[in-house]
Amino acid sequence: MLAPRLRQTVGGWSRACGILTARRRRRAHSLGFWLQRRHRRQRPAPGTAAEHARRADESERRQPPQAISADGGAPAPGDDLGRWYNYDPNFDWHTDDAGFAPGATFGQWISALARYHAITGSQPARAKVLRLNRLYAQTIGEEFYDKNRFPAYCYDKLLLGLIDSHQFAGDPDALVLLDRTTRAAVPHLPPKAVDRELAWRPGKDQSYRWDESYTNPENLFLAYRRGAGRRYRDLAVRFLDDATWFDPLSRGENVLATKHAYSYVNSLSSAMQAYLTLGSEKHLRAASNAFAMLSAQSCPTGGWGPDEKLVAPDGAELHASLTSTHNTFETPCGSYAHFKLTRYLLCVTRDARYGDSMERVMYNTVLGAKPMCSDGRAFYYADYNSAGRKVYSNHRFPCCSGTLPQVAMDYGINAYFRDPRAVYVNLYMPSSVRWSQGAVHCSLQLSGEYPFEDTVSLRVAASQPQEFMLFLRIPAWASDARIEINGQLWSGATEPGSFAAVARRWRDGDRIELELPRRMRLESIDRPHPDTVALLCGPLVLFAIGAGSVRPRRAELLATRQVAQRRWETSVASASVTFLPYVAIDQEQYSTFLTLAG
Ligand SMILES: [Zn+2]
Repeated sequence: MLAPRLRQTVGGWSRACGILTARRRRRAHSLGFWLQRRHRRQRPAPGTAAEHARRADESERRQPPQAISADGGAPAPGDDLGRWYNYDPNFDWHTDDAGFAPGATFGQWISALARYHAITGSQPARAKVLRLNRLYAQTIGEEFYDKNRFPAYCYDKLLLGLIDSHQFAGDPDALVLLDRTTRAAVPHLPPKAVDRELAWRPGKDQSYRWDESYTNPENLFLAYRRGAGRRYRDLAVRFLDDATWFDPLSRGENVLATKHAYSYVNSLSSAMQAYLTLGSEKHLRAASNAFAMLSAQSCPTGGWGPDEKLVAPDGAELHASLTSTHNTFETPCGSYAHFKLTRYLLCVTRDARYGDSMERVMYNTVLGAKPMCSDGRAFYYADYNSAGRKVYSNHRFPCCSGTLPQVAMDYGINAYFRDPRAVYVNLYMPSSVRWSQGAVHCSLQLSGEYPFEDTVSLRVAASQPQEFMLFLRIPAWASDARIEINGQLWSGATEPGSFAAVARRWRDGDRIELELPRRMRLESIDRPHPDTVALLCGPLVLFAIGAGSVRPRRAELLATRQVAQRRWETSVASASVTFLPYVAIDQEQYSTFLTLAG
């Protein structure tokens, strides 16, 4: 039952942010990127960067907050949110938690609200965007950045909130507010992209070095493309981190080790926007190469970056993290960055492996995140320690409280992609999508319990018979996939790791059954440690419950059987071991990896 889980994620955030009074609507999530015909590996799809950019824009087009920072001197109504959200001019990072990143999440919540309005048509959500932006307008001032450790980070979030208010909520004043916001921020930004940990503001302690200007170009390019003006394109180019990051990546040099995980993966979306906006093939190569390098150091869950650091290829660090830390994957922020990167790459290349990667991250990480609490408690790290648990962060209103609602709002645009005469189904979550081809109204309704069972069902609705291509993602693990149309076996190719292309004149009521046989398989944590393995069933990692010290044989793990929709069991040395998917784990201690016996 994924659909309730999705609603829970969205609903948990909505309640925490107090934005919804009306019943949430189950309208179709729509649309993804405008992809063209066939999937091809490692090459951009036909068309120029400008055409790819248009498709990306089309996808975006279809498509939480109780307090305003009082930094500008305007009193905020109600109680302060507190903690990271607080403003404290005397903040001391050695001792204080409150005041770490004042107001930083405001723009993210506005962005999510604007997207929520675009998805659901919720007028209360739009009204809230407009009201909050007008209250925000009273607070804009340079002084906000005077003692702010993260001027580039905070500006990036405010910028995104405003351009999404413009694009998705139709706030007529958003770009004017953006102009004022930019004028306030620019004097406090570095002259160019500055790598994390490098001092660029004299007389400031080390906490002032943790800003992330190298992530700014993505939203600056978007601002330019949404009509905010040439200045945003120029600012975007200024903050492209070419010298130490994109240039070596574009040459295939693996410079990931020691980089701050979330922010540097997030910056790869800036490379994609450089490609989409400027046509820079170098930046496309950088992002594509970096994704391959990241995949090589990702866990079978799709998560990466223990202790928020990327690691060297085939080193000891990833394996050592299983006992040295409980802070393995920064889940809401990391999945937000991961989804954006893979969405951009899927848009441009039509390579199904980017969809596979999204699917892993979704089911094995962020969908299992604990919901946000109204007091600011948020889920931060997934824990792949051999004695792992799901816990809330000690921080209140941290970075991940800003990205979780953003992720939840973007599930829909990860699920379906289309071009004028084709629809791509990328994620098999219970959902529906509607579109028009000329005067014909079409929709697809997707149902089923995948990935907790093998079969996905789709039903076509069309106001008249209509030809279009239906692309169905066949995951790389899915050998022997089958497609039936109205009960008849479809004879086309279902190659693992590709999109199956079904061309047909579709009629109202046509039924498609996609069977993706899930088999047990093992994946090791990395190449140097082939005996440290995770158990998978389809896209799901199965987590051993209370069994971290068990040393199973390979055959014992592969004999694991699904005994209930969200429960698996096997025997190890005659003792029963239970496995749960991440979304089914609550308080249980679990192990992501087990070490195989001799
Ligand atoms: Zn975070």
